[in-house]
Amino acid sequence: KAAIEIRGVSRVYGAGNAQVTALGGVFLNIQENEFFTLLGPSGCGKTTLLRLIAGFDFPTSGEILLYGQDIAPLPPFKRPVNTVFQNYALFPHMTVAENIGFGLQMLGKPKAEIKARVEEMLELVHMTAMRDRQVSQISGGQQQRVALARALAPKPKVLLLDEPLSALDYKLRKEMQVELKRVQAETGITFIFVTHDQEEALTMSDRIAVMSAGSVRQVGNPWEIYDHPAERFVANFIGETNFLEVEVVSVEGGSAKVRLRSGKEIPATFPEQTTPSGKVTIVIRPEHAALSERTDDAPLSGTIESIVYLGTDTNIGVRLDGGTLFNVRQQNSRSGPCGYSEGQTVGIKLSDDVAQ
Ligand code: ADP
Ligand code: MG
Repeated sequence: KAAIEIRGVSRVYGAGNAQVTALGGVFLNIQENEFFTLLGPSGCGKTTLLRLIAGFDFPTSGEILLYGQDIAPLPPFKRPVNTVFQNYALFPHMTVAENIGFGLQMLGKPKAEIKARVEEMLELVHMTAMRDRQVSQISGGQQQRVALARALAPKPKVLLLDEPLSALDYKLRKEMQVELKRVQAETGITFIFVTHDQEEALTMSDRIAVMSAGSVRQVGNPWEIYDHPAERFVANFIGETNFLEVEVVSVEGGSAKVRLRSGKEIPATFPEQTTPSGKVTIVIRPEHAALSERTDDAPLSGTIESIVYLGTDTNIGVRLDGGTLFNVRQQNSRSGPCGYSEGQTVGIKLSDDVAQ
């Protein structure tokens, strides 16, 4: 069941020569109880889309439906939608509990109901012990929990989260990612989460919409987006990527045979509803490739240009004989460095279903 339908929504700021198209005809269906993420680089229109859903701003064209109803006539406070902002926007002179109850008070809810709901929310975000602390006296991560509890207190049907974790340091961010997932699952509320961090999007989301320059480039679950990027921008933005120019030799069913520069042929998959032919670009993820000492029967070969130790993995940059830089990612064992050295000539093997 669609909680939110975005139908051809655009937002153009300014006029004449100074026009900026923040969103250009976006279509999206976001399901009830979904953890849905808008992912894209800074300036691609993520915040604009959230503001339109919240009612802080209005589309230049298009409609937004909430459970089938056009929400255009509803002012922000009448929409069953709430927002968690990046800067939390808490009231520093109030206690944790007062902050959480603030929205309910504004709605004129009875005292007893507010009290019960605040306790419930404190428990949900594991902040009961902090209920009487001033917000200015708790940590950033705890403030984040309070902001989440406050936004959920009025029981919104949809919660909008605009880069809520980007101000937190790495460890705390990882911890809050897990917390947000847990709270979403426990409450069953539809979350629309915004991030420019692809790893965060991949680990947290049921589905992701990848955006660029005011449009949605691809929608899918994390592995669809990662393993089957629909286009170059998506492949490049999500994860590390090698691009190779190849020639299509034959197509059968959902896969093709393509010829590399070396003349060797490898299998490749391609997006549904497309029939590749002629010269195409394929994507090979660095972890789908491995080095080999032998160069003669390997589909690719070249010279090692860089070796970067990354803890769990080592990234090896190989300058292919054709001139392109190709990254290979190998898992580290506990027996020390990877055993290859810069300047060494190597072959590159590819796993079976590597390319697109
Ligand atoms: P994101 O949240 O993905 O970083 P935004 O939605 O904030 O992107 O902005 C999208 C584009 O719209 C940007 O080019 C931004 O400069 C522009 N924009 C956003 N708000 C306004 C505004 N009020 N007036 C003019 N341009 C705006
Ligand atoms: Mg933004």
